[in-house]
Amino acid sequence: MTTLHTDLFIDGTWSPAASGARFAVENPATGVQIATVANGDAHDAQRAIDTAAATQPSWAATAPRFRSEILYRAHRLILDRADDLARIMTTEMGKPLAEAAGEVAYAAEFFRWFAEEAVRIGGDHTTTGDGASRILVTKEPVGPCVLITPWNFPLAMGTRKIGPAVAAGCTMVFKPAELTPLTALALADILAEAGLPPGVLNIVTTDTPGPVVSTWMDSGLARKISFTGSTEVGKLLLRQAAENVMRSSMELGGNAPFIVCADADITGAVDGLMVAKMRNMGEACTAANRVFVHRSVIDEFGAALTERMSALVVGDGSTQGTQVGPLVEAKARDKVQQLVTDAVAGGATVLCGGATPDGPGYFYPPTVLTGVRPDAALMHTEIFGPVAPLIPFDDEDEMVTLANDTPWGLVGYLYTRDIDRALRLSAAIEVGMVGLNTGLVSNPAAPFGGVKQSGLGREGGRVGIEEFLETKYLSIPR
Ligand code: NAD
Repeated sequence: MTTLHTDLFIDGTWSPAASGARFAVENPATGVQIATVANGDAHDAQRAIDTAAATQPSWAATAPRFRSEILYRAHRLILDRADDLARIMTTEMGKPLAEAAGEVAYAAEFFRWFAEEAVRIGGDHTTTGDGASRILVTKEPVGPCVLITPWNFPLAMGTRKIGPAVAAGCTMVFKPAELTPLTALALADILAEAGLPPGVLNIVTTDTPGPVVSTWMDSGLARKISFTGSTEVGKLLLRQAAENVMRSSMELGGNAPFIVCADADITGAVDGLMVAKMRNMGEACTAANRVFVHRSVIDEFGAALTERMSALVVGDGSTQGTQVGPLVEAKARDKVQQLVTDAVAGGATVLCGGATPDGPGYFYPPTVLTGVRPDAALMHTEIFGPVAPLIPFDDEDEMVTLANDTPWGLVGYLYTRDIDRALRLSAAIEVGMVGLNTGLVSNPAAPFGGVKQSGLGREGGRVGIEEFLETKYLSIPR
């Protein structure tokens, strides 16, 4: 049974903020407050990082199999409580229950993946070129880590960081997004039940992240920051990390191109875009932001897409049958409307959607735009909403130039049946991940991450645990 926790989780115990302050969490489908949560400050943050630092030596000394078993148990508990976790997520951030259930399965899998990785941490043994010395390379946990997550995947963004940190033997201070603290606290409860020792994971919730996170970054005790969120905040944290030369993993924003070539399977491409665009109501770093379609197929593609988008059921995510929930808050919804209004003023045509409905809730309808100019604001901004702008192209090289005309480089999607074109374009687009004839790239077994201003490092896959390990080498004369 899932208990709804609303206090700080430090040293294995639940406690209110030292100041007694709390902040409200609301349901974006109704605008109604659902809970209040402890509002931590610098004082609570200091207690959390002191605990993490004090726990680090004993945690690092645990056996890999011990840490692995904790993750296996937590994986099972997440699946056992899937319905409760899905409902908490839907209530605090709006995604439909079916999607929330999908995220629970995805999130749990990170724990299973890293349970398997925990016992495979290796090293290396070689000799120097002159044969005079042995080189013994070992791996050690980096040390106490600062984890910060966004609101859009409240469970999976947590497990994607906590999984490898536990596997590697790092302690943690964790600040979840202020819009979705309840999911993170439910996850802490599960880890404690799975046997995670007190002090390994410490959570401070707050609606004022600056002082809490700065306390950790300036403490001299944290050895690493792992951040998922906007590029703007990521840059701020990198500046803070520089002061103490902290290891930094940054999973930042995206501006994904979705490319439909003349030879593409059009039905498959529409299916793929429905996932790449509409997963999480478009509130994903991986969301297709710009849809480049070859001019010879754009009418056929646009008509099929508009039919699918107009048929989607928009509503409260907790209602059976809802396919598109509300956006996370009024500010997010208003930004999407502003981007659409700006594109239309620049000459774009609305094929469906395009207007904010009356409240309550922060709903925005699935929207398809055509004739979007390359200089429109939504071509250069993360839309973070259910809006698909279609841009025709004739020449492949010109399209690639436009696709790369962004400071971001997280993911790109490519639909073609020509293997040469697929390999050529995959190499030409400046991204960390390519979905070739698929609209979904996220998987715990794959190295997730971007190039350019989309971030540093990778999460998941074989390399995921490396982000939480330090390399040490011993020189031994033969
Ligand atoms: P955000 O950057 O506003 O917030 C992310 C986290 O940073 C939150 O926990 C927030 O409280 C915290 N934060 C905000 N200001 C801070 C400060 N001054 N100091 C320390 N921490 C601070 O992002 P968001 O709106 O929560 O999430 C959306 C963004 O996240 C989008 O840009 C999206 O692309 C990105 N994202 C990236 C990935 C990825 O894997 N690359 C995944 C999901 C989301």
